[in-house]
Amino acid sequence: MVRHFENPYEDYKAGEVNIESSSICRQIDQHVKTILTRLPPLHRHVDGGLYVGVGGVAYMFYHLAKNPLLSANKKHYVEKGIEYIKPALETTTGDKTSFLLGDAGTYAVATVLLKEKGDAEYKNTLSKYQALYRTFLNPSMLKCGSDEFFVGRAGYLAAALWLTRELQAPVFTKEELFALCDVIVESGRMYSDQHSSPSPLMYHYYNTEYLGAAHGIAAILQMLLSVPGYLESNRVAAVDIKNTVTYLAKLQTPEGNWPCCMEEISHADHKLVHWCHGAPGMVYLMAKAFLVMKDRLYLDACIKAADLVWEKGLLRKGPGICHGVAGNGYVFLLLYRLTGDVKYLYRAKVFGEFMSSELFLKEARVPDNPQTLYEGTAGAVCYLSDLLVPEKAEFPFQDVFS
Ligand SMILES: [Zn+2]
Repeated sequence: MVRHFENPYEDYKAGEVNIESSSICRQIDQHVKTILTRLPPLHRHVDGGLYVGVGGVAYMFYHLAKNPLLSANKKHYVEKGIEYIKPALETTTGDKTSFLLGDAGTYAVATVLLKEKGDAEYKNTLSKYQALYRTFLNPSMLKCGSDEFFVGRAGYLAAALWLTRELQAPVFTKEELFALCDVIVESGRMYSDQHSSPSPLMYHYYNTEYLGAAHGIAAILQMLLSVPGYLESNRVAAVDIKNTVTYLAKLQTPEGNWPCCMEEISHADHKLVHWCHGAPGMVYLMAKAFLVMKDRLYLDACIKAADLVWEKGLLRKGPGICHGVAGNGYVFLLLYRLTGDVKYLYRAKVFGEFMSSELFLKEARVPDNPQTLYEGTAGAVCYLSDLLVPEKAEFPFQDVFS
């Protein structure tokens, strides 16, 4: 079975692109209602963290609360967000260090929601998030791989950068951030040496050298490029980072995709067009690399990736942002912000519309966790709300513009 629907839409021709906000708001309201009914903020829905637990729904409410076009409901969204993060917060132990699946993510989302509400308790959750720093500084904190986005240092760093922006105050000193980056670079060098990798930096997760955003090198490098001043502070690391990004750019296939992992680079065909594995997640690294290093090679990689997503991105797996239509639509919102080309806004709009089409509703698979942030409609809600303010759109925790 083909993984994606054939794209039934014509590509952008000319003219303005009108986003119909009333129909988008209706879709958002409908999804939110279903989420409130089917995934209530209970302890039994805490597992899976931001990825597929109530913490992710709390994030969705924060995403909605920050949308200037939805400001009439802001207070309601913040309150709901706090209701949803509460059961997760009550079960934190400080031992489940993971960002996307554990305590780091819960503390981070609780912090911004409480701050938004004006509740001084946010200082307490923030300091619990900060207290995990020592663990992440341990080079081999996890046997399965300590650097990727879900459980490793890249996720913890993503949260630090996101918190700094949302709170408008640094959560770590420059030196603390640089120290974490140094551990990531050293870990990548050591692994690359030990496994004679053709890439100066390489990482593994459960012994697989993933390339994509979820467990792979893409998000790890994106975060290294995103820490302000790091490349200037460590010139030797900067060379390895740049050469690694260029190595990855050259692994892009003529079609525009990337292999899922190094073990598959010699395969002819790379089928996964997902944020987790493939071009839709790799674009954030390429976009950040373009913004930082201004090399056209990286921008071309993004453009090629977006063309592939247009052809093969209407996934049958559902509406989510990890391996679903909304996650792939985010590629166009990224390209729209990167290039200003209205063609991408058109494509983003069409992907949004497809999620309420009869064909999709009838034939798309229902994901395992249908109301969650990464697999289900909570992620689609973030995407739809970003269609209302495309100039501010951002895939959760992957902002490349600040
Ligand atoms: Zn996925």
